[in-house]
Parts: sequence; C-alpha cells; structure tokens
Amino acid sequence: MMQATSTHAEEMAKILVVDDEKINITVLESLLKPYYKVVVAKDGMQALQRLEKVPLPDLILLDVVMPEMDGYEVCRRVKSNLVTRGIPVIFITGQSEERSEAKGFEVGAVDYILKPFSPLTTLARVKTHVELKQRGDQLERMAVLDGLTGIANRRRFDEFLDYEWERSHRYQHELSLILMDIDFFKRYNDHFGHAEGDVCLKKVARTIAASLPRSVDLACRYGGEEFACVLPETNAAGALVTAQRILENCRKLHLPHPLSEAAEHVTLSVGTSTLIPGVPMQKQELIERADQGLYMCKKNGRNQVRQFSEGIFP
Ligand code: GH3
Ligand code: MG
Ligand code: MG
Repeated sequence: MMQATSTHAEEMAKILVVDDEKINITVLESLLKPYYKVVVAKDGMQALQRLEKVPLPDLILLDVVMPEMDGYEVCRRVKSNLVTRGIPVIFITGQSEERSEAKGFEVGAVDYILKPFSPLTTLARVKTHVELKQRGDQLERMAVLDGLTGIANRRRFDEFLDYEWERSHRYQHELSLILMDIDFFKRYNDHFGHAEGDVCLKKVARTIAASLPRSVDLACRYGGEEFACVLPETNAAGALVTAQRILENCRKLHLPHPLSEAAEHVTLSVGTSTLIPGVPMQKQELIERADQGLYMCKKNGRNQVRQFSEGIFP
C-alpha cells in the first residue's frame, strides 16, 4: 500500500476533484480519501468558487468535458490567477486524442490521466505531484525565513520595505521602521556559549514578532543579533509605543545576562524612524535615521528606545 502523506489530519494535503459525473467523483474520492483531504466540485464554476477559500488545495484533478465551462477553461483561469497559479492541475478524462492531451499541457496542466484510469497509477501520479508541490512551497518559505529564528529574513525585509515604500508613497502614508540590536551579545556568547546564544536569539526574535500589534507589520532578523520591524501606516507615536512594548516584553523574558553593563537580563537598544516617503533615496534615510537612534542608545547606556523624528531625539 502507499504511504499516507501525513499521520495528522490537519497536515494532510488537500485535493480538489472536479467532475460533472457523480460516479467519477465518488470513485476518485474513495480512492484518495485514505491519504488526502478531498474537496469536490461538480462543475467549473463551483471549482473556481472553491479556490476562493483558504487553505488552497495542493492539487486539482480536473475533468475535461463538462457543460458550461470545460476543464481547459478552468485550468486557464487557475493559471492566470496569481494566487492559484502554483497549484498543479492533472486532467483526468476520456478524451484520448493526442490533440486534447497536448492542449491540456498547453493550458498549464502537469499531467494527463486517461479514463478508465488505473487506481494505483492515479494514486502514484497524484502523490508525485503533491510532493513536488509541497517541496516547492517549502523552498519558497525557506527563501524568505531566517533559518535560526524562523521569523522573516533580510531578503524578505528588503522586498517588504520596497513594497511598503511604494504603497506609502502613493497614498502619502507615514511609514515607520524599528531597528534593534541586542546589548553586549558577544559577552552573552562568551559567558553561556554559542549554542545558548542561539537559543537567546530565537526567544528574542519570537518576542519581537509577538509584540507587533497588526498582521500587516513585519518583524525580521536584520543580521547577526540585529532585528528590524517595518510598520506600514504608522506614525512616530505608534512606532515609539511599539518599540517600548518590544523592550518591555524582552525584559519580561528574564533572560539572565551577568556580563551585561546595561541590566541583569538581556536587553535591546532600539532606534525608530518615521517618514512619509518622497524621493526614492529617502528609503536609505529611513534606515540610517533608525540606525542613528540605535547608535545613540549604545552611547547612552543601552536598554532604551531612541526615536528620530523631524531631526530630534526626544
Ligand atoms: P553592543 O551592545 O555594542 O551591541 O555589543 P555586542 O557584543 O552585542 O555587539 P558586537 O557587534 O560586538 O557583537 C555581536 C555578537 O553577536 C558577536 C557575534 O558572535 C554574535 N552573533 C551574531 N550572530 C550570531 C548567531 O547567529 N548566533 C550567536 N550565538 N551569536 C551571534
Ligand atoms: Mg550588532
Ligand atoms: Mg549588539
């Protein structure tokens, strides 16, 4: 027998089966159900409706000949939608001419199964494409996440800041940036060892991410023991409150740091800056100002927030 993709129902891959004949749906459903979460649709419109809901399926098994909207058209629409284009489509059909098979691949399908289908072959092909899809998703996630801490990485930060910069520029919204650096972290490593240092970085990263109030805010590992947050549509006062909340939540972690001169526990120096985006070169300015705030913290005892707004440090 085939191996199930997962032992936990919530981690089971999801498959959308689209066919206008009830008997086909029943057969495919009973074939796939032991291994996958199966969702069905009886025509093209219903299939597209199913694709408006998350979580999206990991694979679509699509009948070609259906009334109203045929499988080719459904596939074309799936592939032209940015949100759904990554879902592999397998056509499953009685149309055996080479021309219709070629057309299937042309509109973006990854495979083509002829009816009457062999259950074992169908399962094997489904399994292959689901695994490929999941591996691709995993790679995509890895490309934007920091390997150690699991929060967004620098690459994601750069992309996100570019995107939010453009958006804030267009709507003339305020955009805030927070830059943070763990105080005396070299000494933390020296005292506890690098492995414990890694554990500390993970806890601090998680705390920073959990301190952000809105889902549109982004927390990332900026590098080494430095972190950054991008806060769209946030003014200087909002950035200050968030920065102080991060500092306070890190204090509440009570991570002992005997060699720190700033406190008895692990602390952060935090710089924030806010501006309404104008010319593109100001993006660098946003970062530099937050960095200057950070530098001021380091010079003035660390474990504090410094805000750069309108050229003054309050
Ligand atoms: P300051 O308060 O001025 O920021 O002092 P600091 O010691 O934190 O700053 P410094 O830049 O001198 O040292 C940063 C340290 O962070 C040194 C480096 O080994 C450590 N570090 C950077 N990345 C990692 C990591 O991934 N894991 C661990 N364990 N340590 C790291
Ligand atoms: Mg540093
Ligand atoms: Mg440091």
